[in-house]
Amino acid sequence: MTAAEQRPVTALRGVGPALAERLRHLGVAQIQDLLFVLPRTYEDRTRTVPIGTLVPGVRAVIEGEVQLTEVTFRRRRQLLSRLADGSGHVTLRFFHFSASQQAGLARGTRLRCYGEVRRGPLGLELVHPEYRRVAAEGEPLEETLTPIYPTTEGVAQGRLRALITQALGELHSAGVREWLPAGILESLRLPALPRSLEYVHRPPRDAQIEVLAGGRHPAQRRLAFEELLAHHLALKLVKQAVQAAPAAALRDPQGLEEKFVGALPFPLTGAQRRALAEVNADLAAARPMVRLVQGDVGCGKTVIAAAAAARAAGSGAQAALMAPTELLAEQHWRNFDAWFRPLGLPVAHVTGSMGVRARRSALEAIASGEVALIVGTHALFQEGIEFARLALVIVDEQHRFGVQQRLALKEKGDRGGETPHQLIMTATPIPRTLAMTAFADLDVTVIDELPPGRTPVKTVTVAEERRAEVVARIEAACRAGRQVYWVCPLIEESEELRYQAAEDTAAQLAEALHGVRIGLVHGRMPPAKKEQAMAAFKAGRIQLLVATTVIEVGVDVPNATHMVIENAERMGLSQLHQLRGRVGRGAQDSSCVLLYRQPLSAVARERLRAIRESNDGFVIAQRDLELRGPGEMLGTRQTGLAQLRVADLSRDSDLLPRVQRAAEVILADHPDIIAPLTARWIGEGERYGRTA
Ligand code: ADP
Ligand code: MG
Repeated sequence: MTAAEQRPVTALRGVGPALAERLRHLGVAQIQDLLFVLPRTYEDRTRTVPIGTLVPGVRAVIEGEVQLTEVTFRRRRQLLSRLADGSGHVTLRFFHFSASQQAGLARGTRLRCYGEVRRGPLGLELVHPEYRRVAAEGEPLEETLTPIYPTTEGVAQGRLRALITQALGELHSAGVREWLPAGILESLRLPALPRSLEYVHRPPRDAQIEVLAGGRHPAQRRLAFEELLAHHLALKLVKQAVQAAPAAALRDPQGLEEKFVGALPFPLTGAQRRALAEVNADLAAARPMVRLVQGDVGCGKTVIAAAAAARAAGSGAQAALMAPTELLAEQHWRNFDAWFRPLGLPVAHVTGSMGVRARRSALEAIASGEVALIVGTHALFQEGIEFARLALVIVDEQHRFGVQQRLALKEKGDRGGETPHQLIMTATPIPRTLAMTAFADLDVTVIDELPPGRTPVKTVTVAEERRAEVVARIEAACRAGRQVYWVCPLIEESEELRYQAAEDTAAQLAEALHGVRIGLVHGRMPPAKKEQAMAAFKAGRIQLLVATTVIEVGVDVPNATHMVIENAERMGLSQLHQLRGRVGRGAQDSSCVLLYRQPLSAVARERLRAIRESNDGFVIAQRDLELRGPGEMLGTRQTGLAQLRVADLSRDSDLLPRVQRAAEVILADHPDIIAPLTARWIGEGERYGRTA
């Protein structure tokens, strides 16, 4: 018999084309795939629980005799049935029921029920439990814990369970292949694959359900390890695929990179120098760089990007910088222009909203190779812009720039078939082991030092009731010549409301703060107005800038020292840290006031505490990871990793170093097992790209 991974599900009894089609939505094509549809959770239906020992919140099987069944009308019509077993009684409550159902619950009927126990008006109750009549002499219970599978439209729980039972039969006859090399298996000290699968699908009745539900059983850890390994290997393949193509070796014979760094008004920090050395070495090689530079807000990533761009220009090639917002693109363009004009390098600029004529002339200059440096939003790559010789793509503050885009860039190469180098800058620090897994397709550089002379931002939390005090403090700061950001409430209901709120806040503040020059910037404003407001703020003509979270990333106005964030309790930890990073960029004291509305949820309270107590992006990222989980933290970038089936990146983070070591061994010595491992764990839909 062929191995289960090569036999289609249609080889199972009762699986025709229609069911096979529905199973495909669960990522199931082969019999093996069924075995890797893993339970979400478990129920214990192996024993009955005396009714008198039930407590709210538990799910349990109970058995007893109906004492009374009646229809009542408290608020809505419902059927109540009292079930007793000698140790106590409990109410079964049904809001939807038929006459025959009511008849079937007559006094004296013996029932077995399964459901969640809750506290109700008449004591403990089960709402819409599963139930059936049982004979007085008792009937057998389940022999193993009951797995609860993720279901899909048209494949019911019971059906899926039966199919998986059939597939487990195949597990014994045909087997699923153990792909891990013996050396790795031994070092893992975890159960073998068949035993692990058997255990998770049919845990014995004495298995600890809490351990299983928490995903911490060795059998689950074994599977989690293999799953993480599969993802890690898939990402490594992406990297190999990207790097298989040639790239222009940027050796900078014109020495522009050095000239640029030498002309900066400050020396680079040690961490910046190290980062730049890594980037330079990558760029000088004839294979594409794929490097992520991570560093806390304000650590000075922009100059690294600019130095890399200068190196491209000094090698007779082009570099493009993509920013996530127009505001940031604009700011980068101004900076680049100020840095590069003295070196005789004009900088082009392309955004989605620029005028037709300006745009056409920018595109011509890019296509002819007249400009070496191009700054824009990601519109740069969506609109088929022709580059004369694009050799470096820099992506700033963009965690949504994922594997697919990276692979797509491969096709964007210049006319000589070379792939551009890729430099990705992010201010969302991610703990190192996590980064090495989530970004296994990238090399990672960490800038772990801030430029000297920064004073940490003093952060306080203030309840909304004391808003007037905050306004008074801001007024005093403005009179003392300071500049302030006022970040408006986050209203998710509608975009319209959000801008309205920003406008209202600006109007209110204008009324409260006579003589303070107030500006407004929000995402809906025409770009020219946004730029005007930012330029006026930067030049000090505006003292207080009311803004939505458009200023969240990248905006750099060193003279602004105060920030107020409204409704801070609604924002995520990383977002608060990013926003706060807009102040504290100079040597002056700076402060951040987090206004919050009561009551605070436990998580919101934790977030506010974390942000108050630390200024260190890596510490905050670690807390964020604990509070939110990695799926959220990584955003949609890693669709695969966000949809792990058994593994959990924070719970299983101790496995990550072992995953990385195993991956190295496999890439070096067993490359043939990568394809079957990734096929087993990563469904068609979530593939990281065609890596062939
Ligand atoms: P981020 O890493 O958040 O993108 P930026 O690149 O915007 O940070 O840099 C923040 C500020 O620090 C900028 O005003 C920049 O000019 C300044 N800066 C960068 N590097 C240094 C340095 N080595 N010494 C002093 N100031 C620096
Ligand atoms: Mg930046």
